[in-house]
Parts: sequence; structure tokens; C-alpha cells
Amino acid sequence: MGSGKVALITGASRGIGAEAAKLFAREGYAVCINYIANADAAENVRQAILEEGGTCITVQADVSQSSEVRRLFETVDRELGCLTVLVNNVGILQTQSRVEDISEERFLNVLQTNVMSCFLCSKEAIQRMSTRHGGSGGSIVNVSSGASKSGSPNEYVDYAASKGAMDSFTRGLALEVAQEGIRVNAVRPGLIYTDIHETGGEAERVERLKSIIPLRRGGQAIEVAEAIYWLASDKSSFVTGSFIDPSGGL
Ligand code: NAD
Repeated sequence: MGSGKVALITGASRGIGAEAAKLFAREGYAVCINYIANADAAENVRQAILEEGGTCITVQADVSQSSEVRRLFETVDRELGCLTVLVNNVGILQTQSRVEDISEERFLNVLQTNVMSCFLCSKEAIQRMSTRHGGSGGSIVNVSSGASKSGSPNEYVDYAASKGAMDSFTRGLALEVAQEGIRVNAVRPGLIYTDIHETGGEAERVERLKSIIPLRRGGQAIEVAEAIYWLASDKSSFVTGSFIDPSGGL
């Protein structure tokens, strides 16, 4: 039996987004899985949800582009109804590089994908959720990174800068919409075993990180999904502008 609640999770065909989609569906949310490229992977997540009796659609859209974001939200309105939760999960990580080797194009691409997507999707969500616009409230969870605090020197300062921007956006937006029935929070994962680490040089980095993580291991995507779910759901009804760091203590 559905709860009448609707969750849109961006970049949810694999990794943390896919685990979050399955968890929200198990908790009774109708779920929209957004993906950019891998339709088969998105469909596999949808099938897993349907097999457990959940409600789910998949929508292809590049969420760093405003026209595609509008189409995505209009599809959710039409097919699932009133949006209650937005999870801004999309993120890209490029190869490890010193700052001199990061091109302007790469820097802009990382910001466009990681930050602009969060901004564009949040705008659309607020227009639907805000009591100021006739909505009945909602919750936004941004998937930032521990990199926003460490700065990721010698690796990806571009990625860290994008996540730092997401953290500031989370704080500001939380205050801006607090009196309109909307809570805004973020998770800042540490090392999580997902395909984002496919990029060159990551295997060595993963081993190095494991030795300095206080819990002495990387995390699983579901361990981040649980934190996202808690922040999104009414279980955290008095929490806004806050961060949870599923990072094994790093
Ligand atoms: P992932 O690469 O599996 O997930 C990211 C997803 O975003 C991919 O499916 C990708 O196709 C999708 N995507 C990229 N650009 C898109 C766009 N323009 N439009 C729509 N979809 C797009 O990796 P993940 O580890 O599951 O990452 C999820 C989030 O967690 C990211 O924001 C990432 O920065 C963050 N994070 C991950 C880790 C980690 O160690 N895995 C640590 C900290 C933060």
C-alpha cells in the first residue's frame, strides 16, 4: 500500500541513488528514478522495485540542463502526482589531478553537473512544495561529500569546490524555505564503494583511504541511503539545514 508520498531521486540508475530509490519504495513512496545514459540499469532498478510491490517510473533527463529538468518534473507531476521528496544525488568525479592540470572545461563541467543540477531541481521542487505556492511542504536532501570539508588537494579540488557550493546552498536554502513547509538537509559521504571510483588511479586511493578511516573500511551505498531516507522522512521533522556524514568517522 502506497503512502501517497512521491520521491524523485536524480542519477538513480546505480550506486547510492539506486539504493535510495529501492529504500524509498520499500517505505511506501512512489519513486521516480532519473538517469542520464544507462536505460537498462535504470530499468533493472525499476523492476526490482516493482517485484517488491512498489510504484516506480524511470525518466531519462540531463539534470544539468533547465529544459530537461522542467520536462522531468512535469513527468513526475503527471505520472506520480504531488512531489514530497527531492534527492539531489547526481555527481561526477574526474580523474585525480593537480589544479594546474584541471582545464577550464573540466572545472565548468563539474560545477554544471554537480551544482547547477542541484539548483535547477531544487527550484522546480520548491515551486511545487512551498506553501507560498499552494503546496503542502516537502523535503530536499542534497548528496554532498566529505570532500567539501577536506578540499581534496592534489586530487580533485574542482569536485571539492562543487560540493562546498552544495553545502552553502543547503544552508541558505534551508533558511529561505523553512517557513514554507520545506526542510533542506544534506549527507556528506566518505569513501563509498560505487562505480564513481572507476576513474583512473582510484584503486590505489581507495586502499590508502581505508587505512585512515577510523572504522577501517569503506561504506556501502545502502549505508548512505539510510541517512538520506532519515533526513527526507518525517523521522527528522525538526531537522533542517543540517548534515549527516556517513564516513566511518573520517
Ligand atoms: P555514481 O557514479 O554511481 O552515481 C552518480 C549518478 O549520476 C550516475 O548514475 C550518473 O550517470 C548520474 N549522472 C551524472 N551526470 C548526470 C546528469 N547530468 N543528469 C542525470 N544523471 C547524471 O556514484 P555514487 O557514488 O552513487 O554517487 C552518488 C552521489 O554521491 C554523487 O553526488 C557523489 O558525488 C556522492 N558521493 C559519493 C561518494 C563515494 O565514495 N561513492 C563519496 C562522497 C559523495
